[in-house]
Order: sequence, then structure tokens, then C-alpha cells
Amino acid sequence: MNTQLLHPHPWTPQLVRQQFPSLEQRIHGNKSLVYLDNAATTQKPQAVLDALVAYYHTSDANVHRAIHALAERATNALEETRKAVQQFIHAQETAEIIFTSGTTASINLVASSYGQRFIQAGDQIIISEMEHHANIVPWQLLCEAKGAHLRVIPIDDHGELIMTEFEKLLDPKTKLVAITYVSNNLGTVNPIPKIVQQAHAVGALVLVDAAQAAPHMPIHVQNLDCDFLAFSAHKMYGPTGVGVLYGKRAILESMPPYQGGGEMIKKVTLSTSTYNELPYKFEAGTPNIANIIAFRAALELIQTIGWDYIIQHEQRLLEYADRLLRQLDQVHLISTAPNRVGIIALNIPTMNNLDVGMLLDAQGLAVRTGHGCAQPLMERLGIEGIVRASIGIYNTQEEIAYLVEKIAQLIR
Ligand code: PMP
Repeated sequence: MNTQLLHPHPWTPQLVRQQFPSLEQRIHGNKSLVYLDNAATTQKPQAVLDALVAYYHTSDANVHRAIHALAERATNALEETRKAVQQFIHAQETAEIIFTSGTTASINLVASSYGQRFIQAGDQIIISEMEHHANIVPWQLLCEAKGAHLRVIPIDDHGELIMTEFEKLLDPKTKLVAITYVSNNLGTVNPIPKIVQQAHAVGALVLVDAAQAAPHMPIHVQNLDCDFLAFSAHKMYGPTGVGVLYGKRAILESMPPYQGGGEMIKKVTLSTSTYNELPYKFEAGTPNIANIIAFRAALELIQTIGWDYIIQHEQRLLEYADRLLRQLDQVHLISTAPNRVGIIALNIPTMNNLDVGMLLDAQGLAVRTGHGCAQPLMERLGIEGIVRASIGIYNTQEEIAYLVEKIAQLIR
């Protein structure tokens, strides 16, 4: 059955690419840029660039402070992005959307604030073997400071969590499960609803690292029922330096402020202070105003293109890459989970990953090489690192074919 005929769609790969001016550039002596490092950061659409320029042209002012016209424009625009984020992840209210500088900052906020008040000696925090360092180190620091224990869900040889081991780890001492939605090196999509259900059954909270999920799939925090969720704007076609922390209101209310300063207070005297309401309690100092405002244009683009198109297009590219790469005997495919998004990770055992990356770069191909900020995962897989091609909405079948052709050439 031809589903495209049943669901005609105005978007085509060419139309999507036209939104991203940086993709037109040529590098290394007139080679077309083939950007396949989207898991590290994505290119930005014209709408985001326009929003940045428009802000500096017309609305450059600090937010939430002055009553003058520019301040009102900036404040309204920033709060419009908060509303857009709330709708994007289906949160109940804007008070649950906190702007940070990125996923890393969002996770550290929870580790510091929630951790300081609620984690005690002997408590247990669970992470997994496939976490990014940003979802490992903050918990190590917390456990060290509090005398708590960090436990790890192992993965199987397909790069999937071993859920029976997770169930064995869960006990009444478990206070928090901090888990990635999608692995940044394997693309594995983890069964978050099940994890949340099982964690809640022993009274533990769940923090979801959605840095690699947010660009590739719809997120519905109320359906997931997760307690916290973190992601970065720059991995979903938005500006750098902007992150989101979602938290359920009651939990955020119970947490102490993370940083002190302007914006986050209600009243300050020299002896004591009271704190602002949510979400401002967790937003000390001047936020990243221009970039937060411009982030809305990225969210709107994703929604305009639509998840149906994005998922179908990206899955098709992923399957195409797998099919071509499996024909190359010398390529060892690392990303093999049946349910995965966005990521093609491989080794060429006869070649050094860095050399592969440099030689591909010389052909115009931007891929990532190394441990992918997940050294424990590399250790589990028994490898030094990977060559990682990560897909974005603007990549094409021709680009995937070109990648595989150049890898085949390297091997020859
Ligand atoms: N978690 C995951 C799964 C990631 O892929 C990344 C970025 N590579 C991060 C956390 C950290 O994101 P940021 O650097 O934007 O804070």
C-alpha cells in the first residue's frame, strides 16, 4: 500500500533543505557540505536566524523588569516560547517549564536542588550503561556528597536496556531513576513509560534525558508521567545556550532554589530572602533572552513540517543506511537496536576512527568520532570509540548513499 498517496504531504526533502541556508555552503575546495553530526548540534533554519536579528533590531531589552515598550516586547516573546515549549511537550502549565543553558544544566539543577533536599545516605539512584556523561557525573557528585549509591542498568548486545536487571535494582531505597530516552551513540529508544511505571511503584522519581529524543519524536510528558525531562534547543534546530527543564509542579515547589540572584526572588532583606513563584524560582539572573525567543521558530518549523513527515523520512534514511552498510563486510555496525532513531554508529576494525573522520571530512562529510561523551558505554561495548553519523530532518537519501560510497572507498 502506498501510504504517501493516502497522506499527501506538501513537504519534500528539497523544501526542508531550503529552510537551512548553511547547508548550501561548500567546504574543502568546493565539496558540498554533507552534515551528519546532528546529534552533536543541528544547523539552524532561516526562521531562527531571522528571529535573532528581529529581536536585536526591535526588542533588545531585559525581561520581567522594566515597564518600557522594548522590555514588554522581549518579555512577551520569551514567555511565548515558554508557552510553545509547554505545548510541544504537552506539559500541564507554563510554570513547569524552566529555561536553562542546556540539558547538562537542567540535569545539574535537579541533582543540586532535588538532591540537596531529598537524597540521604544509603539512598539509591539508578542510571544506565548507555548514559551521556551529563547524566552520569552529576549523580556521581551527588552520591559522593550524600553517601548515596549509584546503580546501573546494564545493556544487552543489541544496545537495549536489560529490563529484568532494572527490576532487580528497584527497591524502596531507590529515590530517583535518571535515564536517557534515546542513546546519543546507539539511537536506542528506551521504554520510558514502563520505566516510569516501575519506578513509581517503589516510590522513586524519574528524570528523562530527552536531548536525543526531542528532535526525532513527539514527547508527551503527561502521558509518560515522568517527573523531570531535560533537553537542549541546539539539537533541535534552535540556538545554542538554551535548555529546558520540565518538572511536575508539586515536585518543583518542594525543591529549594538552585542558584540565587535577580529574578528568582520575591523579597530580599540583608538577613533573609523569599523566593519567586515557578518557574522564576529556578531562573536566577538574566536569561538567554534572544536565543530563547528564537527557539520558538525552531519549534514552529518542526510542527509545521510535522512528526509524520519527520519520522517517516528519518526512518527511511536509517533503514537505507543500514541496508547499504550491511553490504560492506569490513564495517562493524554498532547501532543495532530494533527500535532506534537518528543514529548510525560503526567501526572499521582495520582503521582508526579519527582517521576515518578526517578522511570523510575531506570529502565534505561531517561525522563525529570518539567516545561520544559515553566512555562507560564504550567500555561495555569493548571499543575505543565509534564513527557516528546522525540524521536530521534535512538529510537526504543521496547524502546517505554518498556517505556509504566514501566509506567503501576508504576500505578499498
Ligand atoms: N544527554 C544526551 C543524551 C546528549 O546527547 C547530550 C548532548 N550530546 C547531552 C545530554 C548534553 O547536552 P548539552 O551539551 O546540550 O547540555
